[in-house]
Amino acid sequence: MARAPAKLKDDEPSALVVHAQSHFMPLLPWHRAVWTRLTSRKPNLPHGVLLTGAVGTGKRRFAEHLAGWLLCDTPTVDGACGQCPSCAWLTVGNHPSLLRISREVDAKGKQSRQIKIDQIRDLMLFVQQTGQGWRVVIFEPAETLNTAAANALLKTLEEPAQRVMLLLVADQYLQLPATIRSRVQQIPLGRIETELAVDFVCDELAVTSEQAKLLLAMSGGAPLAAVELSTTTQFKLRGQWLATWLAILTGRRSVLDATTYWLKQLPLLTWLNLVRQILRDVIALQVGYEVIQTDLDQNHLNQIKSRLSMESLLAIDQRIVSLIASQSQNVNPQLVMENLMVQLSR
Ligand SMILES: [Zn+2]
Repeated sequence: MARAPAKLKDDEPSALVVHAQSHFMPLLPWHRAVWTRLTSRKPNLPHGVLLTGAVGTGKRRFAEHLAGWLLCDTPTVDGACGQCPSCAWLTVGNHPSLLRISREVDAKGKQSRQIKIDQIRDLMLFVQQTGQGWRVVIFEPAETLNTAAANALLKTLEEPAQRVMLLLVADQYLQLPATIRSRVQQIPLGRIETELAVDFVCDELAVTSEQAKLLLAMSGGAPLAAVELSTTTQFKLRGQWLATWLAILTGRRSVLDATTYWLKQLPLLTWLNLVRQILRDVIALQVGYEVIQTDLDQNHLNQIKSRLSMESLLAIDQRIVSLIASQSQNVNPQLVMENLMVQLSR
């Protein structure tokens, strides 16, 4: 039976969503050197800062930590004290001198694709207020500023107010206009020594360094993303999906049967990401590269590799990429999954 069209939903990794308490969380080990270099410049701090790095490297957490430290009445070298009246505001989550500008969510729960000019007008009022202490604005994700909003922000960057820090957090900083990038100090937070990253994941998850390396390899080396990945259903069901793929490919299981089963296991978008994750290793085998997911049944991976040509594998990959990109459009999950299963089974 056909389902009503539904929007694809991304299951946003929860650990990457930073809440108010992150002002008081310890500095991440790979942020320590950058932190010391930046904060030792006080009171001559840059007016605009651009924090860059891949998803899962802790940019947002660094921004919140820095905001807490700037606003705190009695900060330590490592951050906010957690005790003063200002820190009490931070704990409650409504500090009057901290403004966060992000993409708005409408009454129906739909998030805008861009940060709009009206939001920058709010910022100008906030920046022009006179008062004691610092005022901090966090833009996230900064690369979603639309052109009008970016131009308005540029004016604020060109005429800096006293004790105001604008913190731009960007996953894809090159998408920001060059005019903005040239007026802020860029701080890359994504360069992380492998050893630090492995130690962090081992400590957080109480896993072996082999397991930590696997999670990191699957997360592009981003430690917070690696920790998050370990808790996802997508990660746990890899072996099972690999077995299903081989079963439909060898005709031991019908596409319809497999579709019915997997529709119940994962949201479509998550399933697409899972298929792609496994597909990457099959492609790696096909071209003679090392497999990332060494914990999976290598015999299964090899059997799939020997049954599908490079051309078919790349066509599947391309199809998944375009399906993921069209996630905002209404689709019928059953139809999409079944069609892709057919392609995966021949
Ligand atoms: Zn404090």
